[in-house]
Amino acid sequence: MTNKLGGSLKKIGVLTSGGDSPGMNAAIRAVVRTGLYHGLEVFGIMRGYQGMYEDDIFSMDSRSVANIIQRGGTILKTARCKEFFEPEGRKRAFENLKKRGIEGLVIIGGDGSFRGAQKFSNEYDIPCIGVPGTIDRDMAGTEVTIGFDTAVNTAVQAIDKIRDTMDAHDRVFIVEVMGRDAGYIALHSGIATGAENILIPETKTDIEAIIHGLTEKEKRQKLVNLIVVAEGEEFGGADEVAKVVRQRLPKADVRVTVLGHIQRGGSPTCEDRLVASHMGYYAVESLLLGRKNVMVGVINNKIHYTPLDKAVKEKHKIGQEWMKIVKILAS
Ligand code: ADP
Repeated sequence: MTNKLGGSLKKIGVLTSGGDSPGMNAAIRAVVRTGLYHGLEVFGIMRGYQGMYEDDIFSMDSRSVANIIQRGGTILKTARCKEFFEPEGRKRAFENLKKRGIEGLVIIGGDGSFRGAQKFSNEYDIPCIGVPGTIDRDMAGTEVTIGFDTAVNTAVQAIDKIRDTMDAHDRVFIVEVMGRDAGYIALHSGIATGAENILIPETKTDIEAIIHGLTEKEKRQKLVNLIVVAEGEEFGGADEVAKVVRQRLPKADVRVTVLGHIQRGGSPTCEDRLVASHMGYYAVESLLLGRKNVMVGVINNKIHYTPLDKAVKEKHKIGQEWMKIVKILAS
């Protein structure tokens, strides 16, 4: 049997791997329904590569993805699989695909998951298509990743609330958002909430300039200041920054809030549902067209394909222009 695009592919698998992000369910739904539309059998693989290794794989139908588009998390669950780092682990995973005749994979995850996919695909000649699901938005080859919009909006809502109480009491608030290697959540949520300072891993933190700004405000008896910090910023997060501020300005009322995992959960925004649906659809189409080892991304609102090895080697860089804008708008 040939599918509707004329190819010979009959069975594909879909999995979510690594860190979860809101919108992964919408991507799974798109992969399953697009696959079924084209006459494919679609297998769900539980807990990422762990399920591939442990043979936790099941056939999905249209109903199995009903009523999930609005749900955070992932119905396929996600995990980190240490066995997949080893050739024997990947071999066992391959045997489990082979016995079902699965000939192509859609991997929804971050750069670690794509690194695994690339290795696997090179060893066993199974075409793998990556769909970038990460709240960090730090992948090369795409300006959009599934989950970022939801995470950043969650951060904005929380920081808006913090700002109200900060203003009422004349306090310095240091809010830590997620981002071990990437400052996008901090940058976007900081700009959107009017933060005076935004500290991110990609740029050097000028702590003296921050202290100077706070000291000037203290002299004017108006020490209200919002600092948004990415967890991977060079000082090591909000608590560490607070230590320095408290040391240098002992009279300041300094408070710390770490937003943590609320940024990963919750119902995905409309934007994330759309992006996930779009990418999931094109991931299946890619397999049917015979593409191999590419990541589906979006650049300038258009679908863009990047080889997996390039997507994992490079990082999407924050433009310095943004940091200049932050300074001007906060002055
Ligand atoms: P993310 O996809 O969110 O970046 P991880 O970096 O934790 O998440 O990677 C997810 C999983 O992908 C790992 O637990 C492992 O199973 C697989 N993986 C990551 N890097 C490699 C690699 N170099 N070789 C083989 N498998 C890998």
